Amino acid sequence: MEKMEGIIELGKGNLMNTYAQNPVVFDHGKGAHLYSVDGRCYIDCVAGIAVNALGYGDEKIRKAVMDVLDDGIFHVSNLYYNKWAPKAAAKLNALAGSRKVFFCNSGAEANEAALKIARKYGSRTGRSRIISFSHSFHGRTYGAMTLTGQEKYQKGFFPVVPEISYAVYNDLESVKALAGDDVCAVFVEPVQGEGGIVPADKEFLEGLRKLCDEKDMLLVFDCVQTGLGRTGRIFAFQHYDVKPDVMSLAKALGGGLPFAACVGFEKAADVLCPGEHASTFGGNALSAALCLVVLEELENGLAEEAARKGRILMKGLEEIAARHPDKCSAVRGLGLMAGLVLKVPPKDVVSACFRKGLLVCSAGYDVLRFVPPLVITEEDIGQALQILDEVLD
Ligand SMILES: *Cc1c(COP(=O)(O)O)cnc(C)c1O
Repeated sequence: MEKMEGIIELGKGNLMNTYAQNPVVFDHGKGAHLYSVDGRCYIDCVAGIAVNALGYGDEKIRKAVMDVLDDGIFHVSNLYYNKWAPKAAAKLNALAGSRKVFFCNSGAEANEAALKIARKYGSRTGRSRIISFSHSFHGRTYGAMTLTGQEKYQKGFFPVVPEISYAVYNDLESVKALAGDDVCAVFVEPVQGEGGIVPADKEFLEGLRKLCDEKDMLLVFDCVQTGLGRTGRIFAFQHYDVKPDVMSLAKALGGGLPFAACVGFEKAADVLCPGEHASTFGGNALSAALCLVVLEELENGLAEEAARKGRILMKGLEEIAARHPDKCSAVRGLGLMAGLVLKVPPKDVVSACFRKGLLVCSAGYDVLRFVPPLVITEEDIGQALQILDEVLD
């Protein structure tokens, strides 16, 4: 067996220093359990950062990989069709009520595509300004990083993309104040994820929809983290009964492989023309086949399962918050996207949980985030809560 320390040293010596990585190497998993090279078992409430909706070792994922593998082709480029991407796009459109899909590989890329749709849409009327929100997160490429309304992500990388302004989340008046004749789109997360698990108010999203319709601005929902069952509905906007013009998806979309989509509803579906946008790997056969598995599971009730388990997790977190009023101040979230707001540094709690075999991560500067696989068992949720309770003691 390979020694864990050796692999970690190799990583430290050869990977760019962009992550504060925990000192562990995982090599297999089952359900919501991850196993390290040195044989320890962890309960996973991170799920590869809201990616692994079906957990680890899922049989349907394994079969889909083997099917594509048997064909001998993972990738043919978008000069041709593969068997899987059109099916995945059709199913996505049927589930979302959208019209057209552009496939790419990451959340940031999906938002870059949305940005190009927004600016192209605005170019008809000479508008190019975009509104996004403080404490938002949209990714790390230049456009997505500029959309991200948090100074720490942009510091050191100026100049950023021009004509992007930040309004205050859940404050419609702040959007109206910025919505001049030069604005072509509003980008918003239905639940802010990295910013600290902050759900939008219903009136806020309804107000944004109305404002965008009045002013002919595109409403873009970044559902990269909230998408695909995570919040207890297949798409977070279904909680609010507010449809976007464009939606970005990634994270859980590829069943663990890199896969993302920029989804166009009515008037945004045909903005891009041949030659105006592309991705070499976008819609590749293997990722699209796994995407189909994820979408089929969502059709079969995975989101409802997440809603039920989310209620159990939230209730448990609320009990813990009530038991530790000196260390916790609130519980926020939707479905299996939960945040415990702390009065102590989340980093310390994350480390203490890690040492006891529970994987959690932070969000914002004071929130402990839970985004487990949607297939996590009630028993695992109970154990995770118990470990957290002990840590806070
Ligand atoms: C993770 C995330 C992104 C970025 O996705 P990448 O795949 O890391 O580029 C964008 N938006 C939201 C809301 C996210 O949570």
